[in-house]
Amino acid sequence: MYQGDSIAELFGANVFSDAVMRHRLPRDAYTALKRIIEGRGVLDLSLANVIANAMKDWAIEKGATHFCHWFQPMTGLTAEKHDAFISPTPDGRTIMEFSGRELIRGEPDASSFPSGGLRATFEARGYTVWDTTSPAFIRQVGEATVLYIPSAFCSYTGEALDKKTPLLRSMEALNQQALRVLRALGETKVSSVTATLGPEQEYFLIDRRSFEQRLDLMMTGRTLFGALSPRGQDMEDHYFGSLHERVASFMNEVNRELWGLGVSAKTQHNEVAPGQYEIAPLFTSANVATDHNQLIMDTLQRVARKHGFVCLLHEKPFAGVNGSGKHSNWSLATDTGTNLLDPGQTPHENMVFLVFLCAILRAVDRYAKLLRASVATPGNEHRLGANEAPPAIISVFLGDQLTDMIEQLARGAVTSSKQGGQLRIGVNSLPTLPKDSTDRNRTSPFAFTGNKFEFRMVGSSQSTAGPVFTLNTIVADVLGEIADQLEASSDIAATTLAIIQRIAKEHRRIIFDGDNYCPEWVQEAARRGLPNIVSSVDAILSLTEPEHIAVFERQKVLSSTELHARQEILLENYAKTIQIEAKTMISMARRQIIPAGLAFAGEVARSLHQVTSAGAKGKAQRYLLDRLDHLTEELLTAVMELDQAVSNLGNGSAAKAQFCEERLVPLMQHVRKVSDELEQICDARTWPLPTYAQMLFTR
Ligand code: ADP
Ligand code: MG
Repeated sequence: MYQGDSIAELFGANVFSDAVMRHRLPRDAYTALKRIIEGRGVLDLSLANVIANAMKDWAIEKGATHFCHWFQPMTGLTAEKHDAFISPTPDGRTIMEFSGRELIRGEPDASSFPSGGLRATFEARGYTVWDTTSPAFIRQVGEATVLYIPSAFCSYTGEALDKKTPLLRSMEALNQQALRVLRALGETKVSSVTATLGPEQEYFLIDRRSFEQRLDLMMTGRTLFGALSPRGQDMEDHYFGSLHERVASFMNEVNRELWGLGVSAKTQHNEVAPGQYEIAPLFTSANVATDHNQLIMDTLQRVARKHGFVCLLHEKPFAGVNGSGKHSNWSLATDTGTNLLDPGQTPHENMVFLVFLCAILRAVDRYAKLLRASVATPGNEHRLGANEAPPAIISVFLGDQLTDMIEQLARGAVTSSKQGGQLRIGVNSLPTLPKDSTDRNRTSPFAFTGNKFEFRMVGSSQSTAGPVFTLNTIVADVLGEIADQLEASSDIAATTLAIIQRIAKEHRRIIFDGDNYCPEWVQEAARRGLPNIVSSVDAILSLTEPEHIAVFERQKVLSSTELHARQEILLENYAKTIQIEAKTMISMARRQIIPAGLAFAGEVARSLHQVTSAGAKGKAQRYLLDRLDHLTEELLTAVMELDQAVSNLGNGSAAKAQFCEERLVPLMQHVRKVSDELEQICDARTWPLPTYAQMLFTR
């Protein structure tokens, strides 16, 4: 649809951007709004009216007929309710209207969204509130054109019912505490610090026809059955391979659509598994990046359908090949343009860098369980610890140079930085590159990558809000603690050194530069006293431990009530997801797989009858019949057992979730194992489900 436009014209064409605002708003209104966006002013209704009017005129010129508050309830997805701009006039006609009040606030019924007990149906009022820090935009969906207003979602009593509110609160907390530290260290020019985020989105594409023949994909987003194909990712030929034409056309349309929305989609490539791909935008403020990631996920799914594909965002759509993550690159930027995690050439002299680095080490070590909990979803359970994503143990990769520095600090003073030197490739015609001072580590859950950290445990279908507000909160808290000490000190240099030395000593155990996938690390981590929370349910249960409630309350990111509500939602979500998977399995096994096994057995029996009446022994038929008989019977029993377990989940969200994890998941694994064996001996012509080979290799 944007095929002809030049990229410069296209980029941000559908965004009510800073440039559009400057052009369309009266100068004083523009200045006032900028101050509000920077957190230095309050929005009053008269200003809101002016902005709403400008926004409406702009949107209508672009063909919009409706507006909506676009928000992120606890489902992890986005929600929107469209309102037309029309407003009837007394003479029976209509004018287009959009008031400041409508811009600032919406009132969806909160009772139909997960609230973890915060909202009962009789007290259902909820509000969506305009988030001025994330620009409004226009989307074309089919023939419809709608103005989207990014919003937070809270209850009548002001409790957060969404993912954005705690993210925004955590950005403020981080800003405040980081500024205190910078001021105490003598840095006076900076007036704000922002958490930045660049999420790499992995996904699968499969042919739509296969998708529609599989109830498991349609209901759960992953395959619950399917024998491995003879070839998976063994040849390692897909990663960074040349793009298939149909996929390249798909990516082209995705990019153009995203660019129009002001999302700076930047890199794209084939991922490790057949049928797996990645898209990454340029980083931006964590709040906007989280909104943009939602747009990326939504656009991938919509555009895929247009190209005859379905985009799978699940963390593990296929057993036996790589799953999908969302590596979340995170850093801290000042309004003066400095990346606080940039070590510079001589990091040992860069006190600001060292203090922030140490604060992060302490935060990650102290609140490792919270970080683990922030990625605990039923889908991600198939990745974490499953030899492809980082294990369930949180550790930090720093690389040679910084690890050496922390070691020096733990021993005493830090006097030098290991330098990278030159990288020689051994071919004279190739240029000599300045070597990065750190190598990469693809197995670490939390890796320093030169001037940012990469949180690699985040699942592909997750909102980045949860992991990022957790990270922001715990880092803000430690920065606050450091600021307290610095502000009370009369010798800043000595106190700073003492603080970072102490952190280096106390928290060096969290640093691990080796292979996180090897079994020895599990033992080593246990020796170091690092938690290894394999179970998602246990991770979710740890959310409300007293020190976790305390840190969220101290930083005013979540109250105890809000945190308990979130825990409740996560547990419910876990149990519901597993239940849906189990029920889908039961249905497919009973209505498709067992009948296929029996039908094939019937065919073999007829063949046996034929050959024996012709005087042959029918050995093959007898062997096959025996196997079929055995497997279908085992499958039938396993399904019955699963069925019984699903209808007896017990009471209370924690007990239910635990039952699902401990009882249903193993039963489901058994059902699958038997069915996959059956698949391998049944007639391909009558097998009712598209196979792994068909799904992974058809473009
Ligand atoms: P990789 O080589 O790790 O796959 P990619 O290029 O796919 O890297 O993605 C790296 C991501 O990190 C990009 O989204 C990029 O914009 C982001 N990034 C770079 N610098 C920063 C920063 N200072 N803060 C946050 N994200 C950053
Ligand atoms: Mg990448």
